[in-house]
Amino acid sequence: MKRKLLSMLLATCLLCPAVTVSAAEYDTGTPWIYSGLEGNITQDTNISLKDDFAAAVNKEWYLSNSIPVGYSSYSNLAEKAYVMPEEFIAILTDESLKNDSNGQITQEIYQMWLDWDARNAMGMEPVMPYLNAIRNIQTMDDLEKYLTVKGGTNAIVALFPIGIQADMKNATEYGVYISSPSLFLGDSAEYRNPTEFGTRRKALIEELAIKLLVKAGFAQNEAVGIMEDCFTFEEMIAGSVLTFEEQSQTDYIDKMYNPCTMDFLKEQQGDMPIAEIIEVNGYDKAPNIVLAEPEWFMAFREIYKQENLELIKSYLLAHSIVSICNVLDKECYDWYTNMSNALNGSQGRLQDEVLAANFVSSMLSEPMAQLYCEKYYTEEDKAKIEAVCYDVIDEYKVMIMEEDFLTDVTKLTALEKLENMTVRAVYPDTWEDYSSITVADIEKAGNLLDTVMMIANYQSEIQVAKLGEEIDKGEWIAEPTDVNAYYNPQDNSINIMAGILAGPVYRSDMSIEEIYAGVGSVIGHEISHGFDPNGSQFDKDGNYKNWWTDEDRAAFDNKTEKLIAYYNSVELWEGMSCNGSILQGEAIADLGGAACILRMAKKIEDFDYDKYFKSYAKVWASLKTPQTAAYHALYDTHPADYLRINVVVSQFDEFQQTYGITEGDGMYVKPEERIAVW
Ligand SMILES: [Zn+2]
Repeated sequence: MKRKLLSMLLATCLLCPAVTVSAAEYDTGTPWIYSGLEGNITQDTNISLKDDFAAAVNKEWYLSNSIPVGYSSYSNLAEKAYVMPEEFIAILTDESLKNDSNGQITQEIYQMWLDWDARNAMGMEPVMPYLNAIRNIQTMDDLEKYLTVKGGTNAIVALFPIGIQADMKNATEYGVYISSPSLFLGDSAEYRNPTEFGTRRKALIEELAIKLLVKAGFAQNEAVGIMEDCFTFEEMIAGSVLTFEEQSQTDYIDKMYNPCTMDFLKEQQGDMPIAEIIEVNGYDKAPNIVLAEPEWFMAFREIYKQENLELIKSYLLAHSIVSICNVLDKECYDWYTNMSNALNGSQGRLQDEVLAANFVSSMLSEPMAQLYCEKYYTEEDKAKIEAVCYDVIDEYKVMIMEEDFLTDVTKLTALEKLENMTVRAVYPDTWEDYSSITVADIEKAGNLLDTVMMIANYQSEIQVAKLGEEIDKGEWIAEPTDVNAYYNPQDNSINIMAGILAGPVYRSDMSIEEIYAGVGSVIGHEISHGFDPNGSQFDKDGNYKNWWTDEDRAAFDNKTEKLIAYYNSVELWEGMSCNGSILQGEAIADLGGAACILRMAKKIEDFDYDKYFKSYAKVWASLKTPQTAAYHALYDTHPADYLRINVVVSQFDEFQQTYGITEGDGMYVKPEERIAVW
C-alpha cells in the first residue's frame, strides 16, 4: 500500500519492521548463547552474569513469557504493540466519538472490516475490476494507458513506483524518486543465490497466489502459468536491482542519488511511460527527479517490449492479488494467515477486533494516532520527553568535543549538527486534516479494497500538493502510534514516538537509572545515527554533503572496520555468523548511545549502576521463533537482542567494575579490543 512518504532506507529505526521467514537450525552460538531464541533458555540453564549478562539477567523473563498466538516474536520493549490494539478498540467503539470527524471515519472502517457477512457475500467481486483491467491489456499502447491513469486509481500495484521525499542535496524541498518495482522475494540477491529462506518463501507465495487466482476465475493451469511468468519477469529485472546488502553500504546514497531532468527521462526511457506517469500525476512540479536505480532503468528499457507483455501482465496480476488478499473474504484471509504463519513460525491468528483495529491504524494512521494521543498522552508527557532529548543532546556535544580521534574542524561541525538537531517527541504539534474524507465517501467505495484505494489516492494527492513548497519541519513521517523511534538524516531529526514510551522504556514513576536505561538509551541511540556511517554523510540541515576532513573520515572508517570484524566473528548458531557490514550503523548507534548515557550517569550522585545495567538488559528481553531469528540473521540491520545487551555493556569500565569482571569471564573485553566508535 502507498505510504504517506517514501522513506527509502534512510530513516533508521530502532526496531526491525514486521518480518517473514524460514526455519533455522540452531545451536549455541559463540561467544554467548542466543538467549532470545525460543527454547534456548530453560530452567536448567545455569549462567552467571559475569559470563553471559543477557541470559542471566533475563532468564526469568524468558521462562515466564512466550510468543503470543498470531505473533512470531515477543519483546519487552514492544510491549505496547501488544496492548495498543485494545486501546484502539476502546476508541473505535466509543459512542462519544460519533460526532468527531476522525472518530466517524475510523469507526466506519473498523465496522466494515468486521462485517464478514458482507465481505463473504462479495467474495472476489471487489478485486475483479482491477484484475480485468490487467487481463484486457493486449498491446503496449493498452499497457501505457493502464499505467498512466491519474492517481493510479485503477492499479493496485505500481510497475514504476514513484515516491516523494526530501531532496538529498537540498533538504528544504521535496524530490521525486523513481525506484524499481517490488520483488516477491524482497532481496534481489535471492534471484542470484537463493537461500533456503528465499526458496521457502517463493513456494509459499506461489501456493497462495495460485489459490487466489483460481478463486478469481483463472483455470488452474493458467494460474500456474501466471506465477511462472511472474517469477521469470522478476528474475529478468532482479539482476539490475541493488541487493539488500548493497543498499546497506555507505556508498548507497551516492549510487542512488541520480537527479535527472524530464528531458533526460523522455530521451532515455525508450517505450517506458515513466515521464508520462510523472506528468499526469503532477510529480513534475518537483524541482528534482531522482532515478534511484539507473541500472534497473536501463535494463528495464530493454525488457519493456511487446514480446514480454504477458510476463509484465503476470507480474501485475500476481502482485495485485497477493497484496490485497487480506481485505477480501474470510477464505482469502485464512489463506493469507496460513501462509504468514508458515513463513514466520507463528501460530493461530489474532482476534478479529484486534486485526480490525490494526487495519484501521495502518490505513488511517494519522486520524487514528490523533484520537489515540488525545486520549492517552498529555502536553506534560511531551514536555518531559523533549527535556530528556535535549539533555542527551547536550551531553553528546561534550562527548564529541572530547573525542581524541577527531580534529577540531570536524568536531566543530559535528557540534553544529547537534545544535541544529530537530527533536520530535511523543506526538506532533499539528495534525493532517482528514475531514474531507467522510463516511459517505467510505460508503460510496462500498468495500474494503475500494476504500483502501480511495484513501491511498487521497494521501498521494496530499503529498503531490506539497511539491514545490518548502518542507514543513513540523511534519512527522512516522506515526506517534508506531512502537519505534528513528533518526532521519534528511532533516537531522530524532523522532521518539508515543508508542515506544511504555514498558521498560518509559513510565512516569521510573527511577533515574531506569529512565537512562530506557528512553535515555533510545534517544542516545537515535542521536548516534547522525554520526554513523550513513547519517554522518549528511550535514546539519539534512543535505547529503561531506563535512569531514579526509584524515578524520579515515580514522572513523578504521574504527568502523574494527567493529565490523568483531561482529563477523560472532556466531548466532553453528554456521550462521553475524554480517558486520549490515549491522554497522545500528551497532555504532547502540554503543554511542550507551557511552553518552554513562557519561550522564557519572554526574548523578550515588548512581546505581547495577540497577542501570539490569534495566538496560530488560529493555532488550525478547523471544523469536527460529524462523524469525533466521530472517533477522539475514536481513535485520540490528544485532540480535542478546548482542544488543552483551556486546554493548561489556565495552564499558562501569560494567566491568560493577560486577567485578576479570579476564577469563565471558563478559570480559580487554580495553584494547573494545569496538565503540564514539
Ligand atoms: Zn537505529
